[in-house]
Amino acid sequence: MMNGLARVWPLGIRVQLMLWYTLVFACLMGLFGVLFYLHFQTTLATSTDTALQLQAQQVAGDITEERATIVLHDATADLPGFDLADQKRHVPPSDVNLGVLVRIVDGQGVLFRSTPAFRTIIVPPQSVSQPLRGIPWQGTTTTVDGQLVRLYSRALTQEGRIFGVVQIATSLTEVQTSLHEVVLSVLLLAPFILLLGALGSFWLAARALQPIGRLTQTALIIKGGDLHQRVPLPKAHDELRHLAVTLNEMIEHVEHAFLRQRRFVADASHELRTPVTVIRSKAKLALLQVFTPEEYTTVFQAIDSEAERLGRLISDLLVLARADEGQVHLEGESVRFDLLVEAVVATVDVIAAQHQVTVEVTVTEPVSVCGDEARLMQVVMNLLENAIGYNEPGGRVFVSVQAKQEQVVLIVRDTGIGIAEAHVPYLFDRFYRVDPARRHSTGGNSGLGLSIVEWIVKAHGGAVSVESQVEAGSTFTVTLPLWRRAEDVPLSQLFEQAERRRYLA
Ligand code: ADP
Repeated sequence: MMNGLARVWPLGIRVQLMLWYTLVFACLMGLFGVLFYLHFQTTLATSTDTALQLQAQQVAGDITEERATIVLHDATADLPGFDLADQKRHVPPSDVNLGVLVRIVDGQGVLFRSTPAFRTIIVPPQSVSQPLRGIPWQGTTTTVDGQLVRLYSRALTQEGRIFGVVQIATSLTEVQTSLHEVVLSVLLLAPFILLLGALGSFWLAARALQPIGRLTQTALIIKGGDLHQRVPLPKAHDELRHLAVTLNEMIEHVEHAFLRQRRFVADASHELRTPVTVIRSKAKLALLQVFTPEEYTTVFQAIDSEAERLGRLISDLLVLARADEGQVHLEGESVRFDLLVEAVVATVDVIAAQHQVTVEVTVTEPVSVCGDEARLMQVVMNLLENAIGYNEPGGRVFVSVQAKQEQVVLIVRDTGIGIAEAHVPYLFDRFYRVDPARRHSTGGNSGLGLSIVEWIVKAHGGAVSVESQVEAGSTFTVTLPLWRRAEDVPLSQLFEQAERRRYLA
């Protein structure tokens, strides 16, 4: 029993919708039925009362008082049981549904005339006493055998004096029967209407949920690993289409992230293999033991430089992998950016001299940013290494730091080999190199330097851009939010913003 219940509960959304629709429909039908019944009843009662009043008026018009005696005229005098002969014969009472129901009472409340059918009616005393005081009376009463009767009583007047009461009644049996018939037919029809409503709502719910079924089908295919799939878009511009569009955007995002990750792993393995191969071949050469000490020195220097490159590559990869996971902790301290740039330029001076490149720094004012000093140094270092490495002997590098509105702007411009326009959009991609064969001695040429620059800058809430011309040189521009006073912006908020931008990117 419990198992059977568990199988149908919780109910499917279609059945739930159908049940809700049917419930609402049943309530509405019930409400409508009750209102209709009440309205029908009132209308019937009103028309019955109006008819009774008209009849009473007609009958009263045929009655006069002459010398303290009630005199009947015309049609009223001909009513069954109203002539004296009938009165004397004592016609037995008849059914209220068959005869005319008229009764006349004199000014003392004593019965004067009554049709045989009226005699079965139980007459409430106030239906006589009230009209005798001049106020008409109307109400519902019963016959001796329990049938409902509507009764109207009014005074008989002559020259403003009340000399009797006329009472007119009508059986409510017919009205009652009509009402019962209406109720019965509604009760008989209701289950069929409800059943049709339930079937209709089930069909509607099924139709409305069809697109969701298609979404699920596609989601299942995607779950199977096919990230190229997209959910079909419903034609109507409704909530479901919005859901489908959002899902597609999400899948596209996931697909891109997945492809990027796959490419990153493939590229990383490839990049790691090259220095390892070089180190192994050099080591094998050394093992041959055929070299002079000077030649050994050269071989080991080559091994050392490859190992250094490998080490650098591994640490770059680690930084990016951690950055992807959001695991890198960035300090949030106030950093004098102008001093930092000058310090980095001082450290690259030796390399610049080796490449016969001159580096000039222009700092117009002291500027501070909020961030991680070591990471920011890495940004400047990577840009400077590129500017020197991808330069020609005799070339120049111009570095400037300035505050512009709410930002610190760092410009690293060189007169080097430049970058063709086609490569510019990909420069910040991981492992992207314009010319993989060209290797500069200022650092590695793993193609990760600018990716790291971009990540650090974005994590600080800034941006980096490049403009370049082949053979003329390149200009890298980094903007970072200006840090004026420590209490201006809470550090946590600044990093939150930076994180949000990083995820949006
Ligand atoms: P790499 O380790 O190869 O220098 P980066 O990510 O720093 O990697 O740079 C990516 C590529 O962009 C470089 O391989 C180089 O081709 C090009 N590049 C970067 N900076 C400059 C520059 N200042 N002048 C010319 N080309 C540059």
